[in-house]
Amino acid sequence: MNQPEQPDILLQIAMRVEAMPIIEQWSLTAHGKIDSALPAELWRGRAHGRQIALVIHGCDATYHCDQIGTETATIVAFLALRCTRAKLLLNAGTCGGFQSQGAHIGDAYMPTRFFFHDQRVDLDLFRAFGIGDRSIADRPSARHAAQAKIGTCSTGSSLDVTASELALFARESVTCKDMEAAAIVRVAHDLDTPFVAVKVVTDLVDHPEPVATAFVRNLAVARARLAVAIDAVVAAL
Ligand code: SAH
Repeated sequence: MNQPEQPDILLQIAMRVEAMPIIEQWSLTAHGKIDSALPAELWRGRAHGRQIALVIHGCDATYHCDQIGTETATIVAFLALRCTRAKLLLNAGTCGGFQSQGAHIGDAYMPTRFFFHDQRVDLDLFRAFGIGDRSIADRPSARHAAQAKIGTCSTGSSLDVTASELALFARESVTCKDMEAAAIVRVAHDLDTPFVAVKVVTDLVDHPEPVATAFVRNLAVARARLAVAIDAVVAAL
């Protein structure tokens, strides 16, 4: 059997609704699951002369929703990189943004710094491991092509926010709050694979409106903006 061509770029996207406009704009074709025990699904195709693979986390069989979050992000990143041997991993998705950092709904970010905000381990050897602070190279040409801002992304396992997390975000000038990126950048680092993230703001963390209400209202705008930004980034990378 022919080995499928090694992709130039593997896109990892947590939610199906975030991925569909991208799958449609490039007419990617479904290639089944990445592993028989997981719901994660793989697509393949070409865009801007590049070989593309795209993986979504898939629908949880018990809870009937996308398997968002760090646990699935880790295993999917690892398996999808191992099975595709992609040259670059691109995490695309939505995030919470911050009015205090000048964000508006629909703004695109390409963060260069990532960490976890809810892995608090107050023991000398494990404190830094829990925070998992990692930086990646800026890609100015791709970022300008996508009209995306540079920033810092903080990852955790909750959609809501605590007072101490808000204080941390202010201290560290966080621009994006999500539930996957810091976990994926860790895997990319372990597998020595270049990493890029593109995040579009669906809700404003430091705004009185509940996150869930804003997220649902703004998702359509954000996912369309994400597809445009991803097209520009892939053309420019
Ligand atoms: N309520 C939504 C579920 C969204 S969960 C629904 O009904 O479909 C949040 C997803 O979007 C995660 O994959 C996360 O990475 C991203 N996200 C968007 N805004 C976020 C925020 N404020 N905090 C954390 N993650 C956020």
